[in-house]
Amino acid sequence: MPQVTVSDWDLFRDTIRSKVDDVVWQNWLSALEGDVVVSGTLLLTAPSEFHVRWVVDKHLDVIQQSAHSVFGNEVAVGLIASQHASISPVPPTPDSASSIESILTNSTNAHRPPPTTTQPSSKLLARYNFDQFVVGKSNRFAHAAAMAVAEQPGVHYNPLFIYGGAGLGKTHLLHAVGHHSLELHPKCVVRYVTSENFFNEFIDGIRRKRMDEFKSRYRLADILLLDDVQFFEGKEQILEEFFHTFNSLYESNKQMVLGSDRHPRNLSSLEDRLRSRFEWGLLTDIQPPDVETRIAILRKNTDRVRGQFPEDVLEFIAQNVVDNIRELEGALTRVTAYTTLTKEVIDLPMAREVLSDLVLSSTSGPLTPEDILRSTAAQCGFTTEELVGPSRRAPLAQARQIGMYLCRELTTLSLPRIGVLFGGRDHTTVIYAVGKVKRLLETDPNVFKTVSELSQDLRRT
Ligand code: ADP
Ligand code: MG
Repeated sequence: MPQVTVSDWDLFRDTIRSKVDDVVWQNWLSALEGDVVVSGTLLLTAPSEFHVRWVVDKHLDVIQQSAHSVFGNEVAVGLIASQHASISPVPPTPDSASSIESILTNSTNAHRPPPTTTQPSSKLLARYNFDQFVVGKSNRFAHAAAMAVAEQPGVHYNPLFIYGGAGLGKTHLLHAVGHHSLELHPKCVVRYVTSENFFNEFIDGIRRKRMDEFKSRYRLADILLLDDVQFFEGKEQILEEFFHTFNSLYESNKQMVLGSDRHPRNLSSLEDRLRSRFEWGLLTDIQPPDVETRIAILRKNTDRVRGQFPEDVLEFIAQNVVDNIRELEGALTRVTAYTTLTKEVIDLPMAREVLSDLVLSSTSGPLTPEDILRSTAAQCGFTTEELVGPSRRAPLAQARQIGMYLCRELTTLSLPRIGVLFGGRDHTTVIYAVGKVKRLLETDPNVFKTVSELSQDLRRT
Protein backbone atom coordinates (compact mmCIF):
# COMPACT_ATOMS: atom_id res chain seq x y z
CA MET A 1 0.00 0.00 0.00
CA PRO A 2 1.51 3.36 -0.99
CA GLN A 3 1.90 6.58 0.87
CA VAL A 4 -1.42 8.08 1.83
CA THR A 5 -2.42 10.96 -0.44
CA VAL A 6 -3.52 14.33 0.90
CA SER A 7 -7.08 13.84 -0.28
CA ASP A 8 -7.34 10.35 1.25
CA TRP A 9 -6.07 11.69 4.51
CA ASP A 10 -8.67 14.45 4.47
CA LEU A 11 -11.37 11.98 3.63
CA PHE A 12 -10.21 9.72 6.44
CA ARG A 13 -10.41 12.64 8.89
CA ASP A 14 -13.80 13.74 7.53
CA THR A 15 -15.12 10.21 7.91
CA ILE A 16 -14.00 9.94 11.53
CA ARG A 17 -15.35 13.34 12.19
CA SER A 18 -18.77 12.50 10.81
CA LYS A 19 -18.99 9.60 13.27
CA VAL A 20 -18.04 11.24 16.56
CA ASP A 21 -19.29 14.22 18.48
CA ASP A 22 -17.47 17.51 18.36
CA VAL A 23 -15.94 17.31 21.81
CA VAL A 24 -14.35 13.94 21.10
CA TRP A 25 -13.11 15.22 17.79
CA GLN A 26 -11.63 18.42 19.21
CA ASN A 27 -10.08 16.85 22.28
CA TRP A 28 -8.83 13.56 20.93
CA LEU A 29 -9.10 12.72 17.32
CA SER A 30 -8.28 15.93 15.47
CA ALA A 31 -4.74 15.79 16.91
CA LEU A 32 -3.87 12.48 15.28
CA GLU A 33 -1.34 12.71 12.50
CA GLY A 34 0.13 10.25 10.11
CA ASP A 35 0.85 9.65 6.51
CA VAL A 36 2.24 6.24 5.81
CA VAL A 37 0.90 2.77 5.55
CA VAL A 38 3.66 0.42 6.70
CA SER A 39 3.23 -3.28 5.95
CA GLY A 40 -0.50 -2.85 5.79
CA THR A 41 -0.70 -0.68 8.92
CA LEU A 42 -1.84 2.91 8.89
CA LEU A 43 0.52 4.55 11.33
CA LEU A 44 -0.96 7.38 13.38
CA THR A 45 0.86 9.58 15.86
CA ALA A 46 -0.68 11.20 18.90
CA PRO A 47 0.86 13.98 21.03
CA SER A 48 1.55 11.77 24.09
CA GLU A 49 1.53 8.21 25.42
CA PHE A 50 -1.53 9.05 27.41
CA HIS A 51 -3.27 10.33 24.33
CA VAL A 52 -2.46 7.06 22.57
CA ARG A 53 -3.88 4.98 25.39
CA TRP A 54 -7.01 7.02 25.66
CA VAL A 55 -7.71 6.90 21.96
CA VAL A 56 -6.98 3.18 21.72
CA ASP A 57 -9.26 2.54 24.65
CA LYS A 58 -12.18 4.66 23.62
CA HIS A 59 -12.09 5.39 19.94
CA LEU A 60 -10.17 2.67 18.16
CA ASP A 61 -13.33 1.20 16.63
CA VAL A 62 -14.34 4.34 14.88
CA ILE A 63 -10.79 4.89 13.60
CA GLN A 64 -10.62 1.35 12.29
CA GLN A 65 -13.99 1.54 10.57
CA SER A 66 -13.00 4.81 8.94
CA ALA A 67 -9.62 3.42 7.88
CA HIS A 68 -11.36 0.42 6.30
CA SER A 69 -13.79 2.55 4.40
CA VAL A 70 -11.10 4.86 3.04
CA PHE A 71 -8.03 2.64 2.67
CA GLY A 72 -9.58 -0.79 2.39
CA ASN A 73 -10.52 -3.63 4.68
CA GLU A 74 -7.03 -5.08 4.88
CA VAL A 75 -5.56 -2.05 6.58
CA ALA A 76 -4.69 -2.24 10.29
CA VAL A 77 -4.35 0.83 12.46
CA GLY A 78 -1.34 1.54 14.65
CA LEU A 79 -0.99 4.37 17.14
CA ILE A 80 2.20 5.69 18.56
CA ALA A 81 3.18 8.70 20.66
CA SER A 82 4.95 11.32 18.58
CA GLN A 83 8.08 11.48 20.72
CA HIS A 84 8.75 7.85 19.76
CA ALA A 85 7.80 8.04 16.16
CA SER A 86 9.75 9.04 13.18
CA ILE A 87 7.05 9.60 10.63
CA SER A 88 8.49 9.98 7.21
CA PRO A 89 7.41 9.10 3.72
CA VAL A 90 10.04 6.35 3.83
CA PRO A 91 8.59 3.17 5.32
CA PRO A 92 10.12 2.55 8.78
CA THR A 93 11.78 -0.73 9.64
CA PRO A 94 9.74 -3.75 10.76
CA ASP A 95 10.91 -3.01 14.33
CA SER A 96 8.85 0.12 14.57
CA ALA A 97 5.81 -1.81 13.38
CA SER A 98 6.15 -4.23 16.29
CA SER A 99 6.46 -1.42 18.82
CA ILE A 100 3.15 -0.10 17.53
CA GLU A 101 1.56 -3.43 18.21
CA SER A 102 2.87 -3.44 21.73
CA ILE A 103 1.28 -0.09 22.43
CA LEU A 104 -1.96 -1.36 21.06
CA THR A 105 -1.95 -4.50 23.16
CA ASN A 106 -0.60 -2.95 26.35
CA SER A 107 -3.18 -0.27 26.42
CA THR A 108 -6.30 -2.20 27.26
CA ASN A 109 -6.29 -1.37 30.96
CA ALA A 110 -5.68 2.34 30.63
CA HIS A 111 -8.31 4.27 32.55
CA ARG A 112 -8.04 7.99 32.87
CA PRO A 113 -10.61 10.73 32.54
CA PRO A 114 -10.41 13.08 29.59
CA PRO A 115 -8.92 16.49 30.28
CA THR A 116 -11.55 19.08 31.00
CA THR A 117 -10.74 21.48 28.25
CA THR A 118 -13.66 23.55 27.08
CA GLN A 119 -12.94 23.55 23.40
CA PRO A 120 -15.56 25.43 21.49
CA SER A 121 -17.53 23.31 19.13
CA SER A 122 -16.73 24.34 15.62
CA LYS A 123 -16.54 22.32 12.47
CA LEU A 124 -13.29 23.30 10.88
CA LEU A 125 -11.43 21.21 8.35
CA ALA A 126 -7.78 20.98 9.36
CA ARG A 127 -6.39 21.50 5.88
CA TYR A 128 -8.31 24.72 5.29
CA ASN A 129 -5.87 26.96 7.13
CA PHE A 130 -3.91 30.07 6.18
CA ASP A 131 -0.68 28.11 5.70
CA GLN A 132 -2.25 26.05 2.95
CA PHE A 133 -3.84 29.05 1.27
CA VAL A 134 -1.87 30.39 -1.65
CA VAL A 135 -2.12 34.15 -1.97
CA GLY A 136 -2.19 35.76 -5.40
CA LYS A 137 -3.60 38.83 -7.10
CA SER A 138 -7.03 37.25 -7.31
CA ASN A 139 -7.50 36.72 -3.59
CA ARG A 140 -4.98 39.02 -1.89
CA PHE A 141 -7.52 41.43 -0.52
CA ALA A 142 -9.91 38.76 0.73
CA HIS A 143 -6.98 36.98 2.38
CA ALA A 144 -5.74 40.15 4.10
CA ALA A 145 -9.22 40.99 5.36
CA ALA A 146 -9.73 37.43 6.63
CA MET A 147 -6.40 37.57 8.43
CA ALA A 148 -7.28 40.92 10.01
CA VAL A 149 -10.60 39.70 11.40
CA ALA A 150 -8.99 36.51 12.70
CA GLU A 151 -6.42 38.57 14.57
CA GLN A 152 -8.88 41.03 16.04
CA PRO A 153 -12.39 39.65 15.77
CA GLY A 154 -15.17 42.21 15.91
CA VAL A 155 -12.82 45.16 15.58
CA HIS A 156 -12.21 45.90 11.93
CA TYR A 157 -14.92 44.92 9.55
CA ASN A 158 -18.22 43.50 10.59
CA PRO A 159 -19.47 41.57 8.78
CA LEU A 160 -16.72 40.56 6.43
CA PHE A 161 -18.54 39.43 3.30
CA ILE A 162 -16.52 37.28 0.88
CA TYR A 163 -18.05 36.47 -2.47
CA GLY A 164 -16.92 34.74 -5.66
CA GLY A 165 -17.49 31.79 -7.98
CA ALA A 166 -17.46 28.11 -7.08
CA GLY A 167 -14.20 26.50 -6.07
CA LEU A 168 -12.26 29.73 -5.55
CA GLY A 169 -11.51 29.37 -1.85
CA LYS A 170 -14.33 31.05 0.07
CA THR A 171 -14.96 28.10 2.35
CA HIS A 172 -11.22 27.63 2.79
CA LEU A 173 -10.86 31.24 3.95
CA LEU A 174 -13.79 31.01 6.37
CA HIS A 175 -12.26 27.94 8.01
CA ALA A 176 -8.86 29.63 8.08
CA VAL A 177 -10.34 32.54 10.04
CA GLY A 178 -11.65 29.99 12.52
CA HIS A 179 -8.32 28.18 12.92
CA HIS A 180 -6.26 31.31 13.22
CA SER A 181 -8.52 33.00 15.73
CA LEU A 182 -8.58 29.84 17.84
CA GLU A 183 -4.79 29.77 17.80
CA LEU A 184 -4.60 33.39 18.90
CA HIS A 185 -7.60 33.37 21.23
CA PRO A 186 -8.09 29.80 22.43
CA LYS A 187 -11.16 30.65 24.50
CA CYS A 188 -12.97 32.17 21.60
CA VAL A 189 -16.16 30.35 20.56
CA VAL A 190 -16.11 29.81 16.82
CA ARG A 191 -19.04 28.48 14.85
CA TYR A 192 -18.75 27.49 11.24
CA VAL A 193 -22.02 26.60 9.58
CA THR A 194 -23.37 26.53 6.08
CA SER A 195 -26.57 28.47 5.55
CA GLU A 196 -28.25 25.23 4.63
CA ASN A 197 -27.37 23.65 7.98
CA PHE A 198 -28.28 26.81 9.82
CA PHE A 199 -31.68 26.58 8.15
CA ASN A 200 -32.07 22.87 8.91
CA GLU A 201 -31.13 23.34 12.55
CA PHE A 202 -33.61 26.17 12.78
CA ILE A 203 -36.43 23.99 11.38
CA ASP A 204 -35.36 21.20 13.68
CA GLY A 205 -35.41 23.62 16.63
CA ILE A 206 -39.00 24.54 15.83
CA ARG A 207 -40.06 20.94 15.37
CA ARG A 208 -38.53 19.78 18.63
CA LYS A 209 -39.53 22.94 20.46
CA ARG A 210 -35.88 23.65 21.18
CA MET A 211 -35.63 27.16 19.80
CA ASP A 212 -33.77 28.43 22.86
CA GLU A 213 -31.02 25.95 22.22
CA PHE A 214 -30.79 26.99 18.60
CA LYS A 215 -30.72 30.70 19.46
CA SER A 216 -28.07 30.40 22.09
CA ARG A 217 -25.93 28.17 19.91
CA TYR A 218 -25.48 30.99 17.46
CA ARG A 219 -25.97 34.09 19.51
CA LEU A 220 -23.31 33.05 22.02
CA ALA A 221 -20.64 32.65 19.35
CA ASP A 222 -17.71 35.05 19.33
CA ILE A 223 -17.13 34.38 15.68
CA LEU A 224 -19.83 33.19 13.34
CA LEU A 225 -18.62 31.86 10.00
CA LEU A 226 -21.68 31.50 7.80
CA ASP A 227 -21.08 29.95 4.41
CA ASP A 228 -23.11 30.04 1.22
CA VAL A 229 -25.57 32.73 2.29
CA GLN A 230 -27.05 32.70 -1.21
CA PHE A 231 -28.96 29.70 0.12
CA PHE A 232 -31.16 32.09 2.13
CA GLU A 233 -32.69 33.46 -1.05
CA GLY A 234 -36.35 32.61 -1.09
CA LYS A 235 -36.30 31.05 2.41
CA GLU A 236 -38.67 33.46 4.08
CA GLN A 237 -38.96 31.47 7.32
CA ILE A 238 -35.30 31.83 8.17
CA LEU A 239 -34.79 35.46 7.32
CA GLU A 240 -36.48 36.86 10.39
CA GLU A 241 -34.51 34.55 12.65
CA PHE A 242 -31.23 35.26 10.95
CA PHE A 243 -31.93 38.97 11.09
CA HIS A 244 -32.16 38.75 14.89
CA THR A 245 -29.07 36.58 15.15
CA PHE A 246 -27.21 39.09 13.03
CA ASN A 247 -28.35 42.05 15.12
CA SER A 248 -27.57 40.34 18.38
CA LEU A 249 -24.03 39.44 17.31
CA TYR A 250 -23.44 42.79 15.71
CA GLU A 251 -24.55 44.72 18.77
CA SER A 252 -22.21 42.77 21.01
CA ASN A 253 -19.29 43.28 18.61
CA LYS A 254 -19.05 39.63 17.71
CA GLN A 255 -17.39 38.92 14.40
CA MET A 256 -19.31 37.58 11.42
CA VAL A 257 -17.72 36.32 8.24
CA LEU A 258 -20.11 35.49 5.44
CA GLY A 259 -19.42 33.56 2.25
CA SER A 260 -21.57 33.84 -0.84
CA ASP A 261 -21.37 32.99 -4.51
CA ARG A 262 -22.72 36.48 -5.34
CA HIS A 263 -22.49 40.12 -4.34
CA PRO A 264 -25.32 41.04 -1.93
CA ARG A 265 -26.94 43.25 -4.56
CA ASN A 266 -27.38 40.15 -6.70
CA LEU A 267 -29.12 38.25 -3.93
CA SER A 268 -32.28 39.63 -5.38
CA SER A 269 -34.93 37.99 -3.31
CA LEU A 270 -33.38 38.88 0.06
CA GLU A 271 -35.13 41.56 2.04
CA ASP A 272 -33.50 44.97 1.77
CA ARG A 273 -32.89 45.26 5.50
CA LEU A 274 -30.79 42.10 5.46
CA ARG A 275 -29.03 42.88 2.21
CA SER A 276 -28.02 46.29 3.46
CA ARG A 277 -26.60 44.74 6.64
CA PHE A 278 -24.42 42.49 4.52
CA GLU A 279 -22.91 45.66 3.13
CA TRP A 280 -22.28 47.33 6.49
CA GLY A 281 -18.83 45.92 6.92
CA LEU A 282 -16.35 45.03 4.24
CA LEU A 283 -17.23 43.38 0.94
CA THR A 284 -14.47 41.60 -0.87
CA ASP A 285 -14.50 39.30 -3.85
CA ILE A 286 -12.28 36.42 -4.93
CA GLN A 287 -11.52 36.20 -8.61
CA PRO A 288 -10.36 33.15 -10.57
CA PRO A 289 -6.61 32.74 -9.99
CA ASP A 290 -4.08 33.76 -12.61
CA VAL A 291 -1.78 31.14 -14.05
CA GLU A 292 1.08 31.82 -11.58
CA THR A 293 -1.27 31.35 -8.65
CA ARG A 294 -2.64 28.16 -10.18
CA ILE A 295 0.87 26.78 -10.52
CA ALA A 296 1.67 27.80 -6.95
CA ILE A 297 -1.45 25.98 -5.70
CA LEU A 298 -0.46 22.85 -7.61
CA ARG A 299 3.05 23.04 -6.18
CA LYS A 300 1.67 23.31 -2.69
CA ASN A 301 -0.51 20.26 -3.29
CA THR A 302 2.42 18.22 -4.56
CA ASP A 303 4.85 19.33 -1.85
CA ARG A 304 4.69 15.96 -0.18
CA VAL A 305 5.58 14.08 -3.34
CA ARG A 306 8.15 16.54 -4.55
CA GLY A 307 9.91 15.41 -7.68
CA GLN A 308 7.11 13.15 -8.88
CA PHE A 309 5.38 15.93 -10.75
CA PRO A 310 7.60 17.58 -13.36
CA GLU A 311 7.15 21.31 -13.77
CA ASP A 312 5.79 20.97 -17.32
CA VAL A 313 3.00 18.71 -16.06
CA LEU A 314 2.01 21.28 -13.46
CA GLU A 315 2.07 23.97 -16.11
CA PHE A 316 -0.05 21.87 -18.44
CA ILE A 317 -2.68 21.42 -15.75
CA ALA A 318 -2.53 25.08 -14.72
CA GLN A 319 -2.99 26.20 -18.30
CA ASN A 320 -5.99 23.99 -18.89
CA VAL A 321 -7.94 24.26 -15.65
CA VAL A 322 -8.70 27.89 -15.44
CA ASP A 323 -11.49 28.89 -13.17
CA ASN A 324 -12.03 26.37 -10.42
CA ILE A 325 -9.42 25.32 -7.86
CA ARG A 326 -11.34 22.20 -6.91
CA GLU A 327 -10.97 21.04 -10.51
CA LEU A 328 -7.26 21.77 -10.38
CA GLU A 329 -6.99 19.44 -7.41
CA GLY A 330 -9.18 16.85 -9.16
CA ALA A 331 -6.77 16.81 -12.11
CA LEU A 332 -3.86 16.09 -9.78
CA THR A 333 -5.79 13.27 -8.13
CA ARG A 334 -6.42 11.63 -11.49
CA VAL A 335 -2.79 11.76 -12.51
CA THR A 336 -1.74 10.35 -9.13
CA ALA A 337 -4.31 7.56 -9.38
CA TYR A 338 -3.15 6.68 -12.88
CA THR A 339 0.50 6.50 -11.93
CA THR A 340 -0.22 4.36 -8.88
CA LEU A 341 -2.30 2.01 -10.96
CA THR A 342 0.03 1.63 -13.92
CA LYS A 343 3.37 2.42 -12.23
CA GLU A 344 4.06 4.73 -15.17
CA VAL A 345 6.28 7.71 -14.46
CA ILE A 346 4.46 11.03 -14.60
CA ASP A 347 5.46 13.02 -17.65
CA LEU A 348 3.79 15.42 -20.03
CA PRO A 349 2.58 12.92 -22.65
CA MET A 350 1.07 10.75 -19.93
CA ALA A 351 -0.66 13.74 -18.26
CA ARG A 352 -2.02 14.89 -21.63
CA GLU A 353 -3.47 11.44 -22.23
CA VAL A 354 -5.00 11.06 -18.77
CA LEU A 355 -6.40 14.58 -18.77
CA SER A 356 -7.34 14.77 -22.45
CA ASP A 357 -10.83 15.91 -21.50
CA LEU A 358 -9.53 19.03 -19.73
CA VAL A 359 -8.64 20.66 -22.97
CA LEU A 360 -12.15 20.04 -24.25
CA SER A 361 -13.87 21.26 -21.13
CA SER A 362 -13.19 24.92 -21.76
CA THR A 363 -15.75 24.92 -24.55
CA SER A 364 -18.44 23.00 -22.73
CA GLY A 365 -21.39 24.42 -20.84
CA PRO A 366 -22.16 23.80 -17.16
CA LEU A 367 -22.60 20.20 -16.18
CA THR A 368 -25.75 19.26 -14.30
CA PRO A 369 -26.11 16.47 -11.72
CA GLU A 370 -28.82 15.02 -13.97
CA ASP A 371 -26.27 14.68 -16.79
CA ILE A 372 -24.10 12.67 -14.41
CA LEU A 373 -26.96 10.44 -13.30
CA ARG A 374 -28.00 9.78 -16.87
CA SER A 375 -24.53 9.07 -18.24
CA THR A 376 -23.44 6.94 -15.29
CA ALA A 377 -26.59 4.85 -15.50
CA ALA A 378 -26.18 4.38 -19.26
CA GLN A 379 -22.47 3.59 -19.10
CA CYS A 380 -22.95 0.99 -16.37
CA GLY A 381 -26.04 -0.58 -17.95
CA PHE A 382 -28.72 0.59 -15.52
CA THR A 383 -31.63 2.99 -15.60
CA THR A 384 -31.54 6.27 -13.71
CA GLU A 385 -34.36 4.97 -11.49
CA GLU A 386 -32.25 1.97 -10.51
CA LEU A 387 -29.29 4.21 -9.76
CA VAL A 388 -31.27 6.27 -7.26
CA GLY A 389 -33.35 3.32 -6.05
CA PRO A 390 -33.03 1.19 -2.91
CA SER A 391 -31.35 -1.95 -4.31
CA ARG A 392 -27.83 -2.58 -3.04
CA ARG A 393 -26.79 -5.44 -5.26
CA ALA A 394 -23.13 -5.26 -6.09
CA PRO A 395 -22.77 -3.94 -9.66
CA LEU A 396 -25.51 -1.39 -9.08
CA ALA A 397 -24.03 -0.22 -5.79
CA GLN A 398 -20.69 0.34 -7.49
CA ALA A 399 -22.30 2.32 -10.31
CA ARG A 400 -24.01 4.46 -7.70
CA GLN A 401 -20.72 5.07 -5.92
CA ILE A 402 -19.10 6.11 -9.19
CA GLY A 403 -21.97 8.52 -9.83
CA MET A 404 -21.54 10.05 -6.38
CA TYR A 405 -17.81 10.38 -6.94
CA LEU A 406 -18.32 12.17 -10.25
CA CYS A 407 -20.85 14.55 -8.69
CA ARG A 408 -18.29 15.42 -6.04
CA GLU A 409 -15.52 15.96 -8.61
CA LEU A 410 -17.44 17.69 -11.35
CA THR A 411 -20.16 19.74 -9.67
CA THR A 412 -20.38 22.08 -6.71
CA LEU A 413 -23.05 20.03 -4.94
CA SER A 414 -22.47 19.57 -1.21
CA LEU A 415 -22.20 16.07 0.27
CA PRO A 416 -25.75 16.16 1.72
CA ARG A 417 -27.13 17.35 -1.64
CA ILE A 418 -25.42 14.49 -3.44
CA GLY A 419 -27.02 12.12 -0.93
CA VAL A 420 -30.44 13.58 -1.69
CA LEU A 421 -29.86 13.31 -5.43
CA PHE A 422 -29.06 9.62 -5.10
CA GLY A 423 -32.38 8.69 -3.56
CA GLY A 424 -32.17 10.42 -0.18
CA ARG A 425 -29.02 8.80 1.14
CA ASP A 426 -27.04 10.10 4.08
CA HIS A 427 -23.96 12.30 3.54
CA THR A 428 -21.78 9.71 5.29
CA THR A 429 -22.75 7.26 2.55
CA VAL A 430 -21.47 9.80 0.05
CA ILE A 431 -18.20 10.23 1.95
CA TYR A 432 -17.82 6.46 1.96
CA ALA A 433 -18.58 6.21 -1.76
CA VAL A 434 -16.09 8.93 -2.72
CA GLY A 435 -13.37 7.26 -0.65
CA LYS A 436 -14.12 3.86 -2.08
CA VAL A 437 -13.99 5.04 -5.69
CA LYS A 438 -10.76 6.97 -5.05
CA ARG A 439 -9.23 3.78 -3.75
CA LEU A 440 -10.59 1.66 -6.59
CA LEU A 441 -9.20 4.12 -9.13
CA GLU A 442 -5.77 3.03 -8.00
CA THR A 443 -6.43 -0.68 -7.83
CA ASP A 444 -9.14 -1.59 -10.31
CA PRO A 445 -8.46 -0.88 -14.00
CA ASN A 446 -12.15 -1.32 -14.86
CA VAL A 447 -13.20 1.38 -12.45
CA PHE A 448 -10.44 3.66 -13.71
CA LYS A 449 -11.61 3.12 -17.28
CA THR A 450 -15.29 3.72 -16.45
CA VAL A 451 -14.57 6.88 -14.48
CA SER A 452 -12.21 8.27 -17.15
CA GLU A 453 -14.63 7.58 -19.99
CA LEU A 454 -17.55 9.04 -18.11
CA SER A 455 -15.60 12.10 -17.14
CA GLN A 456 -14.54 12.64 -20.76
CA ASP A 457 -18.03 12.12 -22.14
CA LEU A 458 -19.56 14.40 -19.56
CA ARG A 459 -17.21 17.23 -20.30
CA ARG A 460 -18.05 16.96 -23.98
CA THR A 461 -21.80 17.38 -23.37
P1 ADP B 1 -15.51 27.74 -2.56
O1 ADP B 1 -16.01 27.68 -1.15
O2 ADP B 1 -15.20 29.12 -3.01
O3 ADP B 1 -16.41 27.01 -3.53
P2 ADP B 1 -13.37 26.11 -1.53
O4 ADP B 1 -12.93 26.97 -0.41
O5 ADP B 1 -14.19 24.91 -1.20
O6 ADP B 1 -14.13 26.96 -2.64
O7 ADP B 1 -12.07 25.67 -2.37
C1 ADP B 1 -12.05 24.57 -3.28
C2 ADP B 1 -10.74 23.82 -3.14
O8 ADP B 1 -9.69 24.64 -3.59
C3 ADP B 1 -10.42 23.46 -1.72
O9 ADP B 1 -9.82 22.19 -1.68
C4 ADP B 1 -9.42 24.53 -1.28
O10 ADP B 1 -8.52 24.06 -0.31
C5 ADP B 1 -8.72 24.84 -2.58
N1 ADP B 1 -8.28 26.24 -2.63
C6 ADP B 1 -9.05 27.31 -2.93
N2 ADP B 1 -8.32 28.45 -2.92
C7 ADP B 1 -7.06 28.09 -2.60
C8 ADP B 1 -5.84 28.82 -2.45
N3 ADP B 1 -5.77 30.14 -2.62
N4 ADP B 1 -4.74 28.11 -2.10
C9 ADP B 1 -4.80 26.77 -1.95
N5 ADP B 1 -5.90 26.03 -2.10
C10 ADP B 1 -7.04 26.67 -2.42
MG1 MG C 1 -17.74 26.81 -0.42
